[in-house]
Amino acid sequence: MKKLIVILQFLIIWVCANAQEQPCKTQNVNEEILRQAELLQHNARPQSVDRLIRVYFRIFRNDNGFNAAADLQQIELEFQQLQASFAANNICFANMGVDFINNSNLNLNIDVDNSATYLPLFDFVIPNCITIFYHADLIGAGGKAYNIPNTFFSVQKDNIGYNTISHEMGHCLGLLHTFESVYGIEKINGSECTQLGDRVCDTPADPWVWNGILPCFSNNSCLYTGTCMDPNGSIAYTAPYSNIMSYWVVAGCNASFFSSGQFARVNAYLTADAGLQSTQSPSNLSFGPATAVSGILLKSAIHHLYTSGTVNLNNSINASFMGEYVTLQPGFTGAPASGKIIIKPAACNY
Ligand SMILES: [Zn+2]
Repeated sequence: MKKLIVILQFLIIWVCANAQEQPCKTQNVNEEILRQAELLQHNARPQSVDRLIRVYFRIFRNDNGFNAAADLQQIELEFQQLQASFAANNICFANMGVDFINNSNLNLNIDVDNSATYLPLFDFVIPNCITIFYHADLIGAGGKAYNIPNTFFSVQKDNIGYNTISHEMGHCLGLLHTFESVYGIEKINGSECTQLGDRVCDTPADPWVWNGILPCFSNNSCLYTGTCMDPNGSIAYTAPYSNIMSYWVVAGCNASFFSSGQFARVNAYLTADAGLQSTQSPSNLSFGPATAVSGILLKSAIHHLYTSGTVNLNNSINASFMGEYVTLQPGFTGAPASGKIIIKPAACNY
């Protein structure tokens, strides 16, 4: 909308300058030229959104509707933290919706080390987006991504505000912990960095791998003070304190950034993985003709989303339409009796 206003002002000034004795008449603006000018302006500016990933927030409450794991204001702040973490890689997220689910068992009793307790969660995963669950309690962890990569993850209530949302999203998009050892312990000098540790070369070897394993690990808040040796016998660790995929947030560090190598890995997963492909918006999208009367309908485009032909959304449908621009063409009817329709611009840094 801001761009539109800027162009309108320009045209009004031009009209005024060439018609000095007449009052300005904004109705003389040629809409076709306006549209073309806007397109040119859009194409000329640096592209800052390469991908728009749909997310949907599902907040658990107890069976009686009390003890919600988060409120709507907290979810908005969580979403903003997620956007900020990935913006440097031109990834934007479309918040397609938030809802509450009354289920005491899933709100309180998930043990992240016991799959029988979290298998029922899978029934609540929404297709074609990354589903983000909030739980009042999550036994054994502050968050859980379940698989790498994946299209859903959980955050525990007490971890709200600590950027756990970006950490778990990182797992879903293919990232390992900076101190991962399943492929072998990373070496401080970086040799074999594509194979060892987190398999990302610009994240330094993380001494956290020894935390709770060997007495050589020690720290003073957000500072490693230990003497642990890497596989080469070196002790000269420089910990990735602020990396979102480290655990140093537990020691009081700020989990604030991903490295270029991590973003490269994320982009590779977003391109290669079919599940993650299904969460991403096309550049432009025409939707319709269509009739939808129930369930959840998510439609998004990085730039222009527009309806085409007869589109009827009725009964209990929960629909979300999001993009840089959303246009509802003649033929669109939205009259959900018990559902809702959300139409809004994506909160991206276009
Ligand atoms: Zn993790």
